[in-house]
Amino acid sequence: MSYIYDLWDDFISLLFPRLCYACGNHLMRNERLICTECYVVIPRTNNHIKADNPVAQLFWGRCMIEKAAAFSYYNKGSRIKNLIHNLKYKGIREIGYELGRIYGLSLETSGFMKDIDLIIPVPLHPAKKKVRGFNQSETISMGIADATHLPVDIKSLERTLVSATQTKKSRYERWTNVEGIFQVTDPQTIMGKHVLLVDDVITTGSTVESCSIELLKIEGVKDGQMLRVFFRLLILRQ
Ligand SMILES: [Zn+2]
Repeated sequence: MSYIYDLWDDFISLLFPRLCYACGNHLMRNERLICTECYVVIPRTNNHIKADNPVAQLFWGRCMIEKAAAFSYYNKGSRIKNLIHNLKYKGIREIGYELGRIYGLSLETSGFMKDIDLIIPVPLHPAKKKVRGFNQSETISMGIADATHLPVDIKSLERTLVSATQTKKSRYERWTNVEGIFQVTDPQTIMGKHVLLVDDVITTGSTVESCSIELLKIEGVKDGQMLRVFFRLLILRQ
């Protein structure tokens, strides 16, 4: 029976070839979304096993992030860039989930996720989310949640301003345009929690900095105890 199924599967693949979203090659029967070669050759930063990595250094002196890491390098024409492009602009949201799941497994086994209570994706402005149909950072977070069994909170942090595309701004504008873009709508949920903040790409780090500024405002005193919000950050670009 499985032989007939395989034949049928091959026949369907001839009519509707399934291609790897990273390199465009045909996927084998046991492959999904990303081919085995891409799994192997997509470069990993291994930031998560080195505390003073380049992504963490990006935030030194800017905001109190405990740890930071990126999955891969976002170079021109790279396989990871193709994946992110297919995720964001072709709407293949399963790619985000799969990348999150792969990275989540590495983060979990390395101890990077130790003491994390909550995963928060960097929110899109509701209008932008409506146009795109989904938030790519949210799908990545869902994949990480699958690998780590941690909850994803998509309600407590909200984007209130649509900022102009970061790439169109000067470097100075990008560095100064960080306050008041996000707001915490449910401080009680986040209070005292150790948060993993997830974004899909990072350039200057200003988006993540904006989120952190708002989340860190929750730090306060309750029941005679100092409660703090901690951050670990996951980004797919360096
Ligand atoms: Zn491939």
